[in-house]
Amino acid sequence: MSFNIESSDKKRVVIVGGGFGGLRLALDLKKANFQVVLIDKNNFHQFPPLIYQVATSGLHPSSISFPFRKIFEARKDFYFRMAELRAVYPKEKYIQTSIGKLDYDYLVLANGAKTNFFGNKNIEDAAMPMKTVGESMGLRNAILSNFERSVTCSTKQERQELLNVVIVGGGPTGVEVAGAIAEMRNYVIPKDYPDMEAKRMHIYLIQSSDRLLPGMSKKASEKSEQFLKKLGVDVLLYKRVIDYKDNKVILADGMAIPTRTFIWVCGVSANDIVGLDKEAYGASNRLLVDEINRVKGYDDIFAIGDIALMLDSDAKHKQGHPQMAQPAIQQGANLAKNLVALENNKKTKPFKYRDLGCMATIGRNKAVADVFKMNFAGMFAWLLWMVVHLRSILGVHNKIAVLLDWTWGYLTYDRSNRMILSAIKPKVILKREEIESKYHWGSINSTSIEIDAHKKHSEALDSLNDLKEINVTPDINTVLDNVKEVEVELKDIEKEIKEVKEELHDEVKKH
Ligand SMILES: Cc1cc2nc3c(=O)[nH]c(=O)nc-3n(C[C@H](O)[C@H](O)[C@H](O)COP(=O)(O)OP(=O)(O)OC[C@H]3O[C@@H](n4cnc5c(N)ncnc54)[C@H](O)[C@@H]3O)c2cc1C
Repeated sequence: MSFNIESSDKKRVVIVGGGFGGLRLALDLKKANFQVVLIDKNNFHQFPPLIYQVATSGLHPSSISFPFRKIFEARKDFYFRMAELRAVYPKEKYIQTSIGKLDYDYLVLANGAKTNFFGNKNIEDAAMPMKTVGESMGLRNAILSNFERSVTCSTKQERQELLNVVIVGGGPTGVEVAGAIAEMRNYVIPKDYPDMEAKRMHIYLIQSSDRLLPGMSKKASEKSEQFLKKLGVDVLLYKRVIDYKDNKVILADGMAIPTRTFIWVCGVSANDIVGLDKEAYGASNRLLVDEINRVKGYDDIFAIGDIALMLDSDAKHKQGHPQMAQPAIQQGANLAKNLVALENNKKTKPFKYRDLGCMATIGRNKAVADVFKMNFAGMFAWLLWMVVHLRSILGVHNKIAVLLDWTWGYLTYDRSNRMILSAIKPKVILKREEIESKYHWGSINSTSIEIDAHKKHSEALDSLNDLKEINVTPDINTVLDNVKEVEVELKDIEKEIKEVKEELHDEVKKH
């Protein structure tokens, strides 16, 4: 097997995703009698709360990332494999990944969430999300490259599009990135670009509801709005973005804002898992779990963190826990204990969420914090925010690097990481990725095409059920047309499967 992991007499726990939840679980299983395999599509753990600082040149990407192999270097009966989950085969108890198959005794899905564009293709094509370190580096490059172009472009209209920044989503990430870009405009741009009129740069923060930070206290909402306005951010409440056309963000009320820096941070949906029953899914594609994070309908599959939806666990979180670091970490820790309990036929402990509060920083000396049933705003909240985040970053080197960049930035009003840096994938990696995508999407009985076909089939059933639910009788000709289309598609799929199988056989023969 390409994973190159020998089976042992211990049961195998496979954890998919080494984010906050998966990492906590893997660490807490240290003394348990399991063989633990952690897979992640990256070779590092990332710290999302500071991603916005990478996007705005305040921090270096490596300061908020930490290699998995370093975290687990002396660990026994533990394996890390850099691999991407493709599908789960619950009956056969194995997962298909970008590097091959892996059997499991217990499977824990901790692969988080992705940006939700709410099905709007135009917005998805144009907007820049900010969920990962990679995306934040892309955003930093876009912001800096747009500034560079703005001093050389020939039309006023293009210049305005390049200078305007539109951020959609008034949650903590939107508020933080808006504040950081405003500080860049106020302190860095006038020095870096003396030939650019910084005051022509407008930063818009758009929120569909009546206040920023809707998950926090009213005081936090009011203060953050006040701080942002003081920094010169245009806060637009009760506004909904519906499209992006001709370099303009289009709002539901007809307003159009020209921009080429269109940042989308207004919602997430859980990452897709192929192979689980439809009944396992709840709102926002999250996996329904019981009080010990076991996925609905399965005895040996668990989900924790952003991807999990635990309903009715306590009065305050009837609709599920917030998609934040603490629920993921606490679920990881609780599941570690429960996996051991299950193995030893002992009583399991239901998950109980301990809410440690919420914070957001808007700029130097400006933050809001709701902690211990108290609400703070200003300098104290800002210091608290810094201490909490510094403590949570993995690795002494990273803590020092972050503290150094923060201190430098505070004293000089500068951002030292404003290089436009893009990695070029060497041929050796490109070739490997091509081979992996061809041969490890699935074996003969599970090609990517079959997975696609499976997905399309369940989507078709879903829409038929939707039609039934709202009592719509589809027109007979439309139904016949659809049937014809599906038949043609199926024939194509069958042809493709045949071709892939022949290719695979040829390849097997060659070796
Ligand atoms: C910009 C930003 C700022 C945030 N700020 C805060 C904050 O200040 N406070 C707070 O509490 N929360 C914050 N959050 C939310 C918090 O980061 C998440 O709720 C938390 O990370 C969820 O943990 P998780 O373990 O479920 O998933 P994640 O931490 O997202 O980890 C998922 C892991 O799975 C891996 N993965 C994904 N797909 C696959 C696949 N197919 N195969 C293999 N591996 C895969 C990823 O590489 C990643 O390592 C922020 C999130 C973002 C994006």
